[in-house]
Amino acid sequence: MVDVKKHMNIIDTDKKIKKILNVKTNNVLKQEIKKGEEVLVSELPKCDICGEKAKYDSKTKSGPWGYLCEKHYEEYGVGKLGVGFGQKLILRE
Ligand SMILES: [Zn+2]
Repeated sequence: MVDVKKHMNIIDTDKKIKKILNVKTNNVLKQEIKKGEEVLVSELPKCDICGEKAKYDSKTKSGPWGYLCEKHYEEYGVGKLGVGFGQKLILRE
């Protein structure tokens, strides 16, 4: 008989370790500016739609580019970052 409970515990621990590793990886990625996907700015521009602070300079689904806040990026952005699609604006400290 396989000890199911013991086996499940091992899987659970494995998931936890993976979670910790993922968090670490994400933190490292945030420190590096991804080429073509992020751009450093000294000041965040205004969202072209609502005037809030923009988080993205992105191509929209209808074609033209614009500065978009998080909310409007989700609504109108092409949903993809990179050269030809859009860049996330990172405030330079
Ligand atoms: Zn907006």
